[in-house]
Amino acid sequence: MSLRIGIIKGDGIGPEIVTEAIKVLNKTGEIFDFSCDFKQLLLGGASIDVHGVPLTEETIAAAKQCEAVLMGSIGGDAKTSPWYQLEPSKRPEAGLLGIRKALNLFANLRPAILYEELKGACPLKEEITQGGFDLMIMRELTGGLYFGRRETKEIDGLLTAIDELTYNEDEIRRIAKRGFDIARKRRKKVTSVDKANVLDSSRLWRKIVEEVAEEYPDVTLEHMLVDNCAMQLVKDPKQFDVILTENMFGDILSDEASMVTGSIGMLASASLNETKFGLYEPSGGSAPDIAGKGIANPIATILSAAMMLRFSFDRDQEADAVERAVSQTLRDGYRTIDIMSEGKIQVGTKEMGDLICERIHK
Ligand code: NAD
Repeated sequence: MSLRIGIIKGDGIGPEIVTEAIKVLNKTGEIFDFSCDFKQLLLGGASIDVHGVPLTEETIAAAKQCEAVLMGSIGGDAKTSPWYQLEPSKRPEAGLLGIRKALNLFANLRPAILYEELKGACPLKEEITQGGFDLMIMRELTGGLYFGRRETKEIDGLLTAIDELTYNEDEIRRIAKRGFDIARKRRKKVTSVDKANVLDSSRLWRKIVEEVAEEYPDVTLEHMLVDNCAMQLVKDPKQFDVILTENMFGDILSDEASMVTGSIGMLASASLNETKFGLYEPSGGSAPDIAGKGIANPIATILSAAMMLRFSFDRDQEADAVERAVSQTLRDGYRTIDIMSEGKIQVGTKEMGDLICERIHK
């Protein structure tokens, strides 16, 4: 059985961290008896260097032939990289937005996990972090304020800016279903976050989420206003399983949630469409400041590969095995520089990948 996986190594630390995730996938395949058929694709700065544009039709077509795509981060240093002399629509980030749109990736998943072993990196009080936490933010990615009509014009002599926030019931229903499906694979609780005391779009959101919830009687639904959710994430993050929310609220809350885990190098993410297809990538950027030094933390990318096994290939056992191997490596005291603490053993990108591979078993 061969899994067709597109690989976008990306820019900066991308090639280093993706190489380790490929190693982990191959090792998992050896143990669980599957193979991976990797297809290399170009996106972002790497594509600009070869084709002059951050995304080509060829990359889109090749990605569509794959069952899932694993990506390192893209982009460079905005102050020094020649990519940022180009107009905004030709810069690396435009490639990322373009591929998300072309593949109709409307659901963004960002887990925020505080590992017991890393709780020293968490800025919250110890009584809150005791035992760690594990929540998932499911953010709508292709609608709402970021995709609405916008303009700035003079009204009654005053410069006035307008941004439109639109959601239709189908857009809400499809993301809600995804949220409940994911909750079913976890602790069976959805917290739907909105601002229904003010916004019409949030009132429709709440109505449709309640309709979808009826199809999932085994999953508990609660509603929470976004301002309260922002507070609860730092007061009691353990209460959450899946947080389901619209584009802008999700953008803000997922950054807050990642901050409370304490390390960007540990955070995976996935963007899914209506089929099993997904684009999997670390939450962090391309870290040009440490690129090529062999010190980047590959764990976020390795955990993104585990999400890929779980959500695109329904290989929960294999995903569990990778996640267990990561936890065991941390328990055994190994750390990359970004998560290093006193008394632990510092390792580089490649060694971390090797140590995790050694710990994968059925
Ligand atoms: P960044 O996440 O790349 O770096 C922020 C800090 O975190 C840096 O000090 C970096 O060294 C560190 N860091 C990030 N990932 C790490 C890892 N795996 N291991 C160890 N340390 C790590 O954010 P930035 O500096 O704001 O952005 C750099 C570039 O990345 C920009 O071009 C930006 O547009 C791009 N970016 C891309 C994505 C994406 O591809 N989805 C996301 C965010 C930023």
